[in-house]
Amino acid sequence: RNGFKKESFILSVDFGTTSIRCHVYDKEAEIRGSCTTMILVLIQIVPSYPEVGYVEMDPDALWEGFITVVKGAVQDAGVQMCQINSLGIATQRGTFTTWDRRTGTPFHNFISWQDRRSAELVKSWNTSCTMTAIHGVMKVLYFLTGQKRMLAASLIVFTTQHVTFRLVWVLTHYKQVCQAVAEGNCCFGTIDTWLLFKLTKGQVHATDYSNASSTGFFDSYQMCWSGFLSHLVSVPLSIFPKVENTDHYFGSTDPSFFGVSIPIMSVMADQQAAMFGECCFEVGDVKITMGTGTFMDIHTGSKPHTSSAGLYPLVGWKIGSELVYLAEGSSADTGTAIQWAQDLDLFSDVQQTSDMAYSVSDSDGVCFVPSFSGLQAPLNDPTACASLMGLKPSTTKSHLVRAILESVAFRSKQLYEIMLRETHIPITKIRVDGGVSSNDFVMQLTADLFGRKLARPQRYEMSCLGAAFVAGLGVGFWRSREELKKLQRTDDEFLPQWAPKGGGCSPSRKYISVLQSWERALKRSMNWYKP
Ligand code: ADP
Repeated sequence: RNGFKKESFILSVDFGTTSIRCHVYDKEAEIRGSCTTMILVLIQIVPSYPEVGYVEMDPDALWEGFITVVKGAVQDAGVQMCQINSLGIATQRGTFTTWDRRTGTPFHNFISWQDRRSAELVKSWNTSCTMTAIHGVMKVLYFLTGQKRMLAASLIVFTTQHVTFRLVWVLTHYKQVCQAVAEGNCCFGTIDTWLLFKLTKGQVHATDYSNASSTGFFDSYQMCWSGFLSHLVSVPLSIFPKVENTDHYFGSTDPSFFGVSIPIMSVMADQQAAMFGECCFEVGDVKITMGTGTFMDIHTGSKPHTSSAGLYPLVGWKIGSELVYLAEGSSADTGTAIQWAQDLDLFSDVQQTSDMAYSVSDSDGVCFVPSFSGLQAPLNDPTACASLMGLKPSTTKSHLVRAILESVAFRSKQLYEIMLRETHIPITKIRVDGGVSSNDFVMQLTADLFGRKLARPQRYEMSCLGAAFVAGLGVGFWRSREELKKLQRTDDEFLPQWAPKGGGCSPSRKYISVLQSWERALKRSMNWYKP
């Protein structure tokens, strides 16, 4: 009435693997308040490991963690809940639970994307006669019809990271889930779906295309849950949530939680959100996130990429009529390897690791294989073990740290090579984010191995920013993608110190033999765990 309108803000939550973060963003995309809960240090949220290879999280504890960070961030910003214009949510992918549709009670803990209980099932399916037959039939159909989705089906390789066989495991081990499925009362959901269900007090059972396409149960070619897979592994489609556009109005938070209703204007899978946060809006834009794992994504335009080496076709986002696909390569153990080294007391603070690696001229022949959760593309072996090879009496902590950091860059090089070889898309820019990107040694070595400039944005929590951007665009808080690009801060740049001619991927002579030894170590670590 006095003409003074209170400033409004966008709230965004990133549900990572190691932490839940919430930021309050203003119009300049500056963070005005934050709150973080470390998933590993909160007693209630400690991932429990009931058996080797099992990684679980308590759904109620995660929900409480979500409420805590939202309230904490708004309080930290010194603003009122009514000033929050809208909410965006980015979540880790492929981590799911199931619950009773009527009561909202979970049937079991969340089963993490890192969980390996399905390794045996995955291996037996991948080598089964059924899959060989399907591959053969699909190849013939591709030959006859030329349809890329037939080619994709002929190349299906199941992994433990995707939901499919962990969900099959749940349906074969938990009787109450099967009973709820039979009675039509079972809801399946990844973390975003669970949060939406809780925030709307059971009104909404939904997800977005980016999250759905990350489960392994979604047909990214047909843009629907896969009826083929559903029949193949006997999982009924009735338990899956409705799939909406990424910038859909998903409902509003029930006022009992924050005192007001906040519209939920974006739900996104974390890597796709990071891609949006990095303003990778054009075909050929690449972003690499080095957090708990490494995720390398390339914008492939309006068509999914079909890969034989294990790049995964994902929906980046669907906003209005714009449908963007990404091809993604990943390595599950990046931050986990660094965390492991810290737990072993190789260093006390991660900030020391870059200097430790630079303090020695090489790793003294030590090779580290980062495979606590198996090896992903291009080797695709869930039974590979992590290993340290080439240890000598002269090996120091610095050598070990250097070997671990080198392995992060080596895995990225492998993924980058597949991307170059398979997509044939000219790469326009490469932007790197995630906790491990703050390591200068890793960044420089990666730039050297790629023979390309890497940009590291000053803000590196890109998933949170991406979900905020989509929510903000949806409500007119920001008007255009051009405006978002202008909000990006100056980047740090890492230029290759030995640029190969032609821009290909060829390391210096010094690294050729190191890489060869490392590749031998990879091979020796494969097929280690016998199902
Ligand atoms: P996520 O989003 O998957 O939870 P983050 O992007 O927050 O993960 O990254 C966390 C990881 O980054 C941790 O494992 C941490 O050890 C690692 N990390 C943070 N800073 C550094 C650094 N300077 N050097 C190496 N690793 C780092």
